[in-house]
Amino acid sequence: MMYFDHAATTPMRPEVLEKMTPYMLEQFGNPSSVHAFGRSGRAAIDTARRMMATELNAKPTEIIFTSGGTEADNYAIIGAAMQYQSRGRHVITTRFEHHAVLHAFEELEKRGFDVTYLDVPASGVVTEEALRAAVRPDTILVSIMFGNNEVGTIQPIAACGRFLQEQQILFHTDAVQVFAKMAIDVEEMGIDLLSASGHKINGPKGVGLLYVRSGLKLSPQSFGGEQERKRRAGTENVAGIVGFAEAVRLTAAERPQQTSHYRQLRTLLLERLEASTIDFEVNGTEGLAQVINLYFPRVEIEPFLIMLDMRGIAVSSGSACTAGSIEPSHVLSAMYGENPRTKQSVRISFGRGNDAAQVELLAQGLIDIVKSFQNN
Ligand SMILES: *Cc1c(COP(=O)(O)O)cnc(C)c1O
Repeated sequence: MMYFDHAATTPMRPEVLEKMTPYMLEQFGNPSSVHAFGRSGRAAIDTARRMMATELNAKPTEIIFTSGGTEADNYAIIGAAMQYQSRGRHVITTRFEHHAVLHAFEELEKRGFDVTYLDVPASGVVTEEALRAAVRPDTILVSIMFGNNEVGTIQPIAACGRFLQEQQILFHTDAVQVFAKMAIDVEEMGIDLLSASGHKINGPKGVGLLYVRSGLKLSPQSFGGEQERKRRAGTENVAGIVGFAEAVRLTAAERPQQTSHYRQLRTLLLERLEASTIDFEVNGTEGLAQVINLYFPRVEIEPFLIMLDMRGIAVSSGSACTAGSIEPSHVLSAMYGENPRTKQSVRISFGRGNDAAQVELLAQGLIDIVKSFQNN
């Protein structure tokens, strides 16, 4: 079996599991307890928090642990909009965000906020100019993803962040696909709120973080204990937080080698496809080394994915298949409008364990199956 769907999720690294195990078996105390069991959990969370802060050039008090990327996105967007709505009720995002962001903005619309969805050009990169044109005197919050999860394109986060800082408009970025894989400096980039998740970087599922610039207040979205400096109620996922931090440490340490490894795999795949007779196009411009989205004209995506799966190859289509009908990918629709490619594209996302031999088999599988649809 060959797994090329690392943008959906990744396997946990054994080193990560090893770090987590003691916090489930022996050091299981509640971090809010004063006894030694509790203090050990508290100390582990503090260490993890410092690690995360260092990775972002933030302060430990600016990190809130969450149950994942989705909760972090929801808390940032709903929490900031509700808290600062007296300053204005206009908010901005893009049309190709992850649903954890898009659906949070739809919720804000229901609550009476005015939402501007920035159009996305075919390059898959929104521009600072488009953002400038959308900003109004009553704009209070902007959310633009760092790296897109379907096409891998990187957005001009630093340029947008510096502009929004001048305008005194809050800036959130969903950095789930990028955190630990690329260097992020929240100070230099003018980021006020940032979401990340454990399971996209070979860490555990069900844990994430939200960076919140000091001085900012978010309207609480859950109610209970006083954990996370009264900002996120509920007993901390100690083992998950420890595993997440270890995943960040390992990913960041191996960043240069892994990035160039994925670029080589990408180049190899494209070389093989170009040398064949099949028709294909790359969706969006190159961004994250490990994500590539390919359009295969005239291919029926559902049987195509099943045929690949029968060869032991796991890739994904951005288009969701609900009750037998293929819904076009909202990301590709944002980039290309109504276009067959919104239903005839696949995402290949590399990760640890993928090598050149696997990519040769992937390329051969793609070529054989695409030919059966294209008759070339
Ligand atoms: C996976 C993902 C999320 C959701 O994170 P979870 O931890 O699975 O809730 C949010 N945004 C992006 C860009 C993602 O890829």
